Amino acid sequence: DLFGAERKNAAGIDLNDPRAVTELQQAMASAAAESWAAGPIVGGVAQTGSERRIVTNPADRGQVVGEIFWATPAQAEDALSRAQRAAFAWNATPAAERAACLERAANLMSAQTPRLMAFCQREAGKTLADGIAEVREAVDFLRYYAARARAEFATPLSLPGPTGERNEISLQGRGVFLCISPWNFPLAIFTGQISAALAAGNAVIAKPAEQTGMVAAEAVRMLHQAGVPGDVLHLLPGDGPTIAAPLVSDPRIAGVAFTGSTETARIINQALAAREGPIVPLIAETGGQNAMLVDSTALPEQVVEDVITSAFQSAGQRCSALRVLFLQEDVADKMLTMLKGAMAELVVGDPALLSTDVGPVIDEEARQMLEAHKALMAREAKPIYEPALPATTAAGSFVAPAAYEIAGIDVLEREVFGPILHVVRFRADRLDQVLDSIANTGYGLTLGVHSRIDATVEQVYRRLPVGNAYVNRNIIGAVVGVQPFGGQGLSGTGPKAGGPRYLHRFATEKTLSVDT
Ligand code: GLU
Repeated sequence: DLFGAERKNAAGIDLNDPRAVTELQQAMASAAAESWAAGPIVGGVAQTGSERRIVTNPADRGQVVGEIFWATPAQAEDALSRAQRAAFAWNATPAAERAACLERAANLMSAQTPRLMAFCQREAGKTLADGIAEVREAVDFLRYYAARARAEFATPLSLPGPTGERNEISLQGRGVFLCISPWNFPLAIFTGQISAALAAGNAVIAKPAEQTGMVAAEAVRMLHQAGVPGDVLHLLPGDGPTIAAPLVSDPRIAGVAFTGSTETARIINQALAAREGPIVPLIAETGGQNAMLVDSTALPEQVVEDVITSAFQSAGQRCSALRVLFLQEDVADKMLTMLKGAMAELVVGDPALLSTDVGPVIDEEARQMLEAHKALMAREAKPIYEPALPATTAAGSFVAPAAYEIAGIDVLEREVFGPILHVVRFRADRLDQVLDSIANTGYGLTLGVHSRIDATVEQVYRRLPVGNAYVNRNIIGAVVGVQPFGGQGLSGTGPKAGGPRYLHRFATEKTLSVDT
């Protein structure tokens, strides 16, 4: 069953239901009232580590959320040797049993939605809407990969052969997978990588982003509680150079799943190529320079709504987010006037409030980088809308959504990961050149087209090597099993998370021929 027809995506919580919202906020507040502490989890046991880090709330830097210990090299070695010993038995466990563990974890996460949302909010600044989507996606990944494991890993595929010979091919785990996850989906992508690796029969060492180790620890606790053996899944919070880099170079690691920047993916790829031992896969999902093209046949109201969502939801901190909006000259002024009006309505502030549209960015480093880009744009581009931040945001790492008109996409040297939109005007008879300029960035993640001319949609879709194209809608929020997500070129190695063939990338194949 390629589409997992019997599997349903998670329902989430309806934010239009005031009672549901009150209940949710109360449950989140009681989770937040606990004292939060986390650290490495090795062999199923929570440990303290070397450096103790204080975690503060991105929306209020004076507010201490909890503390987390980073892992030591000795803990990394312990995790790796345990994982290596446990991988064989986990791969030999029937796929249906592995799937059942993941499904139990999905139920636990779903039941603990408010608690997980509290972590996503206080550690990563997620708004209520983003928090709900985050937990739903994590739950969906668990159930989806469980279904794929049952469908493809449980029984070998029989192959034809001469009479008297039985031939089959089966998918197998590769060994120990290293999963390195980003802070922007601290639960969903973290859980997605791990559950794919586990479903395919691998043991896992998870290295969460340094900013979001606490919610990662919650997820690992739930996976263990659901029956994933302690030695099959380990958590090592810490930074890339100390924790991830030595593991990448260790020949006992049989594959790496990474979501983050293109530069880091390149460094991992080089380290994998340079090391001793087997040649192993790197599954990388990296950045984008995502464009949306709008022609004069598009519906302005719909365009504005979709641009706002695509560029500013999650404070623009999605790799799918819209970075460059191409407006056909004839409608550009009208669209920009409407866009400015819509941007003026955006509420920037405390992510705990239902009225907030745009929460904080992840940390001060990100805020400074984004402010530096705004300053550059103010000098070298034409500001379209550059509102000031409300006074209520002074204690946090906030960036006001802004828009700038630029001459072309090639003006941008890199992905700007935040709520900053760039706009380019184009003439209808120059569409080919526009498409070339987008292709020339080398990125290929998401793409939007707003047009009611089928031939234009077709032309744009055919020309651009992207992972996910969206027509007459927004370009974010890919749904597991519906829009399998991942890019090409500088945007990643191409496997589609939440897609029917994703688990293959985490597996190897074995054939068996028996003379009967
Ligand atoms: N899958 C997410 C989306 O479609 C983006 C994932 C990411 O930012 O890495 O919005």
